[in-house]
Amino acid sequence: MTKEVEMEVDDNDKVAALKFASEVDKMVNRELKEGEFWYVLDNKWFQTYKQYLQACDDDMVNNPGPIDNSDLFKTPEGKTLTLKENLVENEDFVYVPAELWTILVNEFELKLCLHGTKQEIITAQFSQVTTLKELEKEMRKLFKVDDKAETQLWACGSLLNAYDPSEPKKNDDQTLVEASLSSGAIVTLEVQNSDGSWPSSRPRFGAIATRSSKITPGLCGLMNLGNTCFMNSALQCMSNTPPLTEYFVNDKYWDELNVDNPLGMGGEIAKTYGDLNKAMWSGLHSFLSPREFKQAVGKFSPQFSGFQQQDCQELMAFLLDGLHEDLNRVKKKPYIEIKQEIDKRPDSVVAAESWSNYLKRNDSIIVDTFHGLLKSTLVCPECDLVSVTFDPYCYLSLPLPVKRERAIDVMFVPARPLTVGPEKKIKQVIKICKLTVPKVGIVPDICNAAARAINESKEINGFTVNPSNLIVTEVNHYRLTRVYNQDDSFSSNADEIYIFEKLDDCTALPVYIRRVKGEDSAVLFAKPFFVNIKQCTYEALYSAVKNYVETLMDEPGFTKETTTQNNDGDEEMGAGANSDNGDTTSNNQVNHKTPTSTVTSASLSPETASSSVSNTPTNSATEATTSAIAPTATASTAAAASGDEKESPMDDKEDGEVEGEDEPFTLRLINSFGTMPLGKISKDKPLELGSKTFIAADFTKRFRIRSIDNEETMLRMNLQKSTSNVGKSHNLSECIEQFTTTERLGEHDLWYCPRCKKRQQASKKFDIWSLPKVAIFHLKRFSYSKYWRDKLDTFVNFPLYNLDLGQYLINNPKKEKILYNLVAVANHYGGLGGGHYTAYGKNKETGTWYHFDDSNVSQASEDAVVSKAAYVLLYLRQD
Ligand SMILES: [Zn+2]
Repeated sequence: MTKEVEMEVDDNDKVAALKFASEVDKMVNRELKEGEFWYVLDNKWFQTYKQYLQACDDDMVNNPGPIDNSDLFKTPEGKTLTLKENLVENEDFVYVPAELWTILVNEFELKLCLHGTKQEIITAQFSQVTTLKELEKEMRKLFKVDDKAETQLWACGSLLNAYDPSEPKKNDDQTLVEASLSSGAIVTLEVQNSDGSWPSSRPRFGAIATRSSKITPGLCGLMNLGNTCFMNSALQCMSNTPPLTEYFVNDKYWDELNVDNPLGMGGEIAKTYGDLNKAMWSGLHSFLSPREFKQAVGKFSPQFSGFQQQDCQELMAFLLDGLHEDLNRVKKKPYIEIKQEIDKRPDSVVAAESWSNYLKRNDSIIVDTFHGLLKSTLVCPECDLVSVTFDPYCYLSLPLPVKRERAIDVMFVPARPLTVGPEKKIKQVIKICKLTVPKVGIVPDICNAAARAINESKEINGFTVNPSNLIVTEVNHYRLTRVYNQDDSFSSNADEIYIFEKLDDCTALPVYIRRVKGEDSAVLFAKPFFVNIKQCTYEALYSAVKNYVETLMDEPGFTKETTTQNNDGDEEMGAGANSDNGDTTSNNQVNHKTPTSTVTSASLSPETASSSVSNTPTNSATEATTSAIAPTATASTAAAASGDEKESPMDDKEDGEVEGEDEPFTLRLINSFGTMPLGKISKDKPLELGSKTFIAADFTKRFRIRSIDNEETMLRMNLQKSTSNVGKSHNLSECIEQFTTTERLGEHDLWYCPRCKKRQQASKKFDIWSLPKVAIFHLKRFSYSKYWRDKLDTFVNFPLYNLDLGQYLINNPKKEKILYNLVAVANHYGGLGGGHYTAYGKNKETGTWYHFDDSNVSQASEDAVVSKAAYVLLYLRQD
């Protein structure tokens, strides 16, 4: 009975399963006939079962197990089951004819044979709820085994129900499904020899595994029991950890089993792991089935009990913990009070105390081999309280040195227009192209990136911006669709990003530019902006808006128009903007003489370019997005002029209806959409400003105003694509360094400061205080966040020999070298939620590397071991 036989069987099964799948559909859909029995079947179960058939996997991943109709019944009171009311056909249940029901109940098909004989394989049908005891009884009958002989069952190289004269067979009550048998599996019945020995004991496992030439101990594949490669990979990594394997192979675990530990698994994890590990190193098997081990794991950690793909590192962590508690030499854990470290004692004292307290409760081969001490330091941002703790670790989860980044275009609007270059061109806005920001970040990330780009730019001399003075917004056409707070996270599907500069000691207010069209309506006609005011007075605000708008004008018609108005003289907005404007004014003297009546309009016809806005809030936001003509490059005088002519008759009429004719615009409070006036701003009272204050500058006459992102006045800044990490290789040392870098806790991951008595966004730092004999590094390739989940395929280089971890140890003042060699690597191939796990392991007997891919084991070159699939690394100290 070799692996090849099994493969043939599986192929036949696939054909049969497909054929069967179509028959099932026919049976369910056929007409009911009088006098027939049809059965009620849970629809959820049935759909899962059909998927299982159609997938015709040879593994068990989608097998729903035995029929489960329990959802159709009320919770049993006493022994009678009552169907729930209001069950719906084809939703809650389906009717299946008797012939299908019989098949479903008895669908399990096993290949049966007798141990040590090459005789025929008998195929037999069983119900999925058949127990191992019943199966054994049936097989004894089929193979005509003497009533007095003892027997036991085997499948895939492991015992299903080992015979032990002192106790009943422990797995006898398991169903075939619970025993992880799938349809088509080969089950072998072994009959005890008359001298009391078992045929399989000479050699013990030899009858089923390939009995070719002697196998190098440790080079034993593990069968895939249906998406269990994650487990096989973890097992092979641990199997190639010499101190651990020596412990098990030399049977030391029997003396240290701690079956009463309430935190342990009753010794079952240690026993099943030990048995498997010994068998793997017996040199008798080219592959084995880890079935018993898997069942033990599933029993104590239901997440691993199914047949879904799981995380290899999580299983390894679970296994290390399970082994530790099962083998904990401490039988009764003393209570140890952990006090908050407030008085400042030297690290060495606190660390030694923490470690000795830990050892009082935890002492095992796992602690001896894998546990080290990690120092974590938390600093409260408010009261500067420093909290230091020392915690044991079993593995280190290292971030990959890659920050997921993306390049976006943002518009930066300085508080005052810039003059650029020898020609002193006025630039209202800087378009920063391809600004690199984290894919998932918070607002300060984008502020810092933008400020750095501007401050490092050679094009803009003598202008620097403070990242904390930036207001990040989203603008859609002429509307502010979002004004970000500093601690907001920054989503990836934003509208256009506009960043406005706020001046020190000033209040920055968002301003909409609108043109009044009648008593009740006005249209937005240029990009919104923020004005900076020092004093919260109407005059200051008016002057600031006016100054700003003037910088947007092609021609000085604005001031001409408002000659009757007294010159405010308020230089709130700073002289810079005005004097720049002065330059342009003198250049445009010709235009100055243009009659004011034609100096009208925004650069585009408002009817097409701007949003139609009325005072009713209902048709506001949606309409705004419908006008799609960009106001940027098309601001040619010709286009503007033709628009003007068409509209001028209407304008005169409208203008007359609005009060405050003396002034080019009036200021109002407005809602955040710029659609609904919330009140006039009184000239006499100080402004009442809140965080939600939006201002509208409502123009009563038409002026030629450019949008701030006019091509003329826009400075383009094309950033070199910053050192993109895609395809760039990294070293393990970078990962370790990043692990020990101070980090600010995330906004959802706050720390309770015992001094402030509240949760704080503390800064956190890890340092390695002591190192274990075997260091496990988990490369965090899988990222999960609120917005995205992903796997990073970054190549991380790591050494096979002489990794010096001494350099990262803070408890090592002379930085003495502590060298480690790689012994095993768990690999993950493919994407999220699936993929395949394998392992590389260095055989301790031969010193050669091998690739463990489920049941296949093959020699590997050292070069192959280091790949971008590497996920968990195990290093053994050289001593
Ligand atoms: Zn505090």
